Amino acid sequence: MSETDKTAILHAVDALFDKQLAFLAELTSHASTRGHEQGAQDLMALAFEERGLAVDRWQIDVEDIRDMPGFSPVAGNYEDAVNIVGSHRSRTGKGRSLILNGHVDVVPEGPHDMWDTPPYAPRIDGGWMYGRGAGDMKAGLASNLFALDALRECGVAPAADVFVQSVVEEECTGNGALACLQRGYRADAALLPEPFAENLVTAQVGVLWFQVHLKGLPTHVAYAGSGANAIEAAIPLVAALREMEERWNAAEGRHPDYAHVDHPLNLNVGKIAGGDWTSSVPAWCVFDVRMGLYPGQDMAAAKSEIAEVLREAAQRNNFLRNNMPEITFVGFQAEGYALSEDTGTTARQAISTLADAHRSINQSELDQIAITATTDARFFGLYADTPALVYGPRAEAIHGFNERVDLESVRRVTQATALFIADWCGLEDL
Ligand SMILES: [Zn+2]
Repeated sequence: MSETDKTAILHAVDALFDKQLAFLAELTSHASTRGHEQGAQDLMALAFEERGLAVDRWQIDVEDIRDMPGFSPVAGNYEDAVNIVGSHRSRTGKGRSLILNGHVDVVPEGPHDMWDTPPYAPRIDGGWMYGRGAGDMKAGLASNLFALDALRECGVAPAADVFVQSVVEEECTGNGALACLQRGYRADAALLPEPFAENLVTAQVGVLWFQVHLKGLPTHVAYAGSGANAIEAAIPLVAALREMEERWNAAEGRHPDYAHVDHPLNLNVGKIAGGDWTSSVPAWCVFDVRMGLYPGQDMAAAKSEIAEVLREAAQRNNFLRNNMPEITFVGFQAEGYALSEDTGTTARQAISTLADAHRSINQSELDQIAITATTDARFFGLYADTPALVYGPRAEAIHGFNERVDLESVRRVTQATALFIADWCGLEDL
């Protein structure tokens, strides 16, 4: 690509940037938590249609994906789980094809009074856009779209097929991205603009979710000695899980990409419920746990170790010994993924193409990082032999209060994405 072409593409991103921010704000105004993504997906489908992309919209059917590697079990049905893919079909097909993936689901915003302004009324202040999902990862979805727009503005289109995916379920199972694989979408590389501050993610942890059910023995508190408190029984079990967490994080067991990361595998008790009445010894307690795994760590072995840790801890408790906790694995059964381990030519080329694009815009090298979270990249990398590049804008407080995304960073990522597409796919005239 000539310097003139490059400059034209960067200017086109600038020229469209106000429109891009308006689109991002509109997308962020949709409270697309799990099960409520349809409004946001309607907007994405319309945006694809307006751009002349072929729109594929379908409801995920668990039966279709249940036996595929990478599937995570779900509770309830999927009547409201809808994916959208917009396809650009190249006339010449002379370049390398690409998947641009983003997830439209967001995590719950928590109590609104802990936000400075309402989470679904996005606002711009001091170069940041605030709102739940603005960073994670609606800025990425907008960037994917407007990077393609910038090329069109220059009178060109990718010279290879490009599939723009807007998926659900990233925050709890990844089954949205998996359903795209099941539906047959494949390309030479995938790009996922998740908000990791313009670094290239070359390793991500796995994530396992499980639920622990405890039964107590209810009595009036006046006779508490004859009862058993299901809520307090959770405390030694959580302590045992914390010991396991420390073992898994020990230096000798670490995946090499995490050798220098401070505490890569985090355990989180994310939800707890139990009891019915303040003056009754609680008869039940349920708590939900998230635990990280290294790339390559065996999922089945991890599950049995967790079950064993809980069983042993329960054995040491007088009441639980005869009322063993029940463990269910629902939600994430996500394996770790390390792009750094992909020594294939395609992966090397994809990384160097992105590094060139990044350098053109930032005049600095593309930094590579190992993250302590998961992304949908694993589906492409592990189950479709497709190198998956996670590269997106800088955001803060994702999953927290006053989530925000750095708008100049969004601009740079959109420019880098446009250059990446131009270089990776090649260009053809409109
Ligand atoms: Zn995300």
